[in-house]
This record gives sequence, structure tokens and C-alpha cells, in this order.
Amino acid sequence: MSTTENALASAEAHSAHTYHPLPVVVATADGAWMTDVEGRRYLDLLAGYSALNFGHGNRRLLDAARAQLERVTLTSRAFQHDRFADFCTQLAELCGMEMVLPMNTGAEAVETAVKTARKWGYRVKGVPDGMAKIIVAADNFHGRTTTVISFSTDPEARADYGPYTPGFEIVPYGDLTALADAMTENTVAVLLEPIQGEAGVLVPPSGYLAGVRELTRERNVLFVADEIQSGLGRTGRTFALEHEGVVPDMYLLGKALGGGVVPVSAVVSSAAVLGVFRPGEHGSTFGGNPLACAVALEVIAMLRTGEYQERAAELGDHLHRELGLLAGGDAVTAVRGRGLWAGVDIDPGLGTGREISEKLMDRGVLVKDTHGSTIRIAPPLVIGKEDLDWGLDQLRAVLGG
Ligand SMILES: *Cc1c(COP(=O)(O)O)cnc(C)c1O
Repeated sequence: MSTTENALASAEAHSAHTYHPLPVVVATADGAWMTDVEGRRYLDLLAGYSALNFGHGNRRLLDAARAQLERVTLTSRAFQHDRFADFCTQLAELCGMEMVLPMNTGAEAVETAVKTARKWGYRVKGVPDGMAKIIVAADNFHGRTTTVISFSTDPEARADYGPYTPGFEIVPYGDLTALADAMTENTVAVLLEPIQGEAGVLVPPSGYLAGVRELTRERNVLFVADEIQSGLGRTGRTFALEHEGVVPDMYLLGKALGGGVVPVSAVVSSAAVLGVFRPGEHGSTFGGNPLACAVALEVIAMLRTGEYQERAAELGDHLHRELGLLAGGDAVTAVRGRGLWAGVDIDPGLGTGREISEKLMDRGVLVKDTHGSTIRIAPPLVIGKEDLDWGLDQLRAVLGG
């Protein structure tokens, strides 16, 4: 057996089958490229679902991590460390907000938002105890914890995990009337992805997000924006909501906040909202640890100049122009997205998304399919234009026969 076959077989035997990865075993990576254990090179057009916006092995991020590794890596929140205040202050500033509640994974940020919104509902809005409702969208993806999958509409993500957490209303994504109709005086929050990533990079109708903002403001309901995948440069802006000129009450951040080095997530909001917490009411051993803060501080510094956002916007325009040409043919039935982020629907007659992904892998390009015959393209924002064009050539070759 080859090294690859060995590694795949051992993983098959000894890891729970919660994923069906492409049959590649990565050994090293740099920028937008990964190299497998046999020395084959692949262009990474997934970027860890946007956790790797700044590319693999980013010098600045590795230097920041290395320097912090030599100083202090963990204190727990029982003691403050010397990167914590800067991290919270600078992340709040980047978001135009006041307070930060750091966690580790995206799902924890969503859980934290649920707790925050409920507590705000009881303490500030005056919702009767135990009655708080949060409205979410169909086809959402907000993570994998039992509460978060309780409001998923994806049977794969949800089946056999009940009993489910109550307190959520699901409305169709992009439908303002349905949202307005679902609101009651016990509604504490509307939780949405500004662009639905896992659903296939679905961009809502123009005006929808601004409408959600207006409606939530009128009804004294928190607008919680899950920008864990859409945020931090991916769409050509720091936040996807900026395209609609919308500022939410709460940003949920994760993925790229840790630079692909360590898991870092956060809830970022106003003092009026995050001020509801008292000591002991929420926490995390690793949340806001020194290593996480050091890496995230470098991420924030990189985003502050706007250069990555600009690059994502420019290369994204190019990507969407090229994909638009493909969409004119028979092989591609639809293309959606914004910035360096696209969902490409392939004619099911040409194969499933999985089959297309495998063919691309054989040509040295790694993508991930989602829902049937859709593939998504989300390269690291540092990808070279020639590399992106080469990747698109491989896609054209696979679709052309
Ligand atoms: C990935 C993702 C999450 C969950 O993040 P984890 O770090 O995997 O827990 C939540 N929301 C969105 C929009 C995501 O893309």
C-alpha cells in the first residue's frame, strides 16, 4: 500500500466517520498550495472554509504565534494576561463595537450569542422568564452543538440528536414578510448568515438585510450576524453586511480570526448588550488565551489596512466574471457569491459535486462540494491571479469533458 492508502485506511478504521474527505493526505502547505505525502501539489480553493483567508503558513501570523509561544500560552481567565486588553479593544474597534466576549470555536460563539440574546431579553427587554424566542433562517449553518443543530433544517446535521433545545423559530431565508410575521413581543433576536455558506453560498435578495435591520430596530430585537465564514475579508469587505450598509447589534466571528493557526472566536457587540453578563455567568478555559489573542491581534492588524479586502474584491470580480462566462454554457446552471467566494451549480448530468471535486483533485485542485451538484470556491485571499486562473482552467477542463 502507498503512504496515502495506508493513512486513509488507518483513518477509516480509527476515526469516527463524521466526514468523507477527498482521498488526499496533506503533509505541508504554503500560501494557496498544499503538498501531499507523495509530493503532489494541490491548489487549495477551500481555504479551510475561510479559516485560511490569509493563506497557509502566513509569515506574519506564524511569527506572532512563535513569539507568543515563547512568552505565555495560557493563563485561563482567572488571571489577566498582557495581550487580552489589546485584543478586546482592537477587535471591538475593527467592528465599530464596544465589547468582546472571546471563545474558541464558531459554534461556541453562536452558543454565546444565544445566551447573550436570551439574558438581554429577560434583563433588558423584559421578556417573561423562559419565554425568549430567537428567529433563524431555513438552510442555516451555525455549527454542530446540540442547541445549534436544534434549529438546523438539514436532516443529516439534526437526525437522532433529540431531544432538541426549544426557543427557536425558523423562517425562509430572504423573506422579510415571513420574518415580520414570526416576530412577537418575546422575540429577542434574529440570527442570520449575511450570505449562507453551507447552503451553497446563497446571497439574499438585495434589500433583505437592510430590511431585517429596520424590522429588528423597530421591534426592539437584536440582529445577530453570523459572519464566521462571510466576515474578515472574504467578500471584499471586512463584513459581508457592509455591502448592504448594515450594522448589526452583534457580530459572531471565528474561522479567519485565528488565522488558520489556532481556533479563535468572539461575540462582538455593544456595552448595553454584552454588559448583561456578571462574573460566573459564562466562560471558557481557553477563550481569549494569550496565544489566541496574539494571533488574532495580527489578523486584526492585517485587516485594518484594507489590503486583503481590496484584493478579495478585485480578484473576486475577476473570479465572478470568469464563472459568469461558464454559467452561459450548458455545464454550469448557476453561480452565486460575492468577493472571493462562489457557489457553482453544476448540471447534475455531469456528475455529483463529489465526483466533480474528485476530478478536480486529479488535476491538482482541491474544492469541497455542498448539497448535491454544487461546488464552492473560496481560495485564500493571498492566492496569485495566475494560480486562480490555472484553477479555473482545470474547472473548465473537468466540465468540458
Ligand atoms: C463554520 C461555521 C460555524 C461553526 O464554526 P466551528 O468553528 O466549526 O464551530 C458557524 N457559523 C458559520 C456561518 C460557519 O461557517
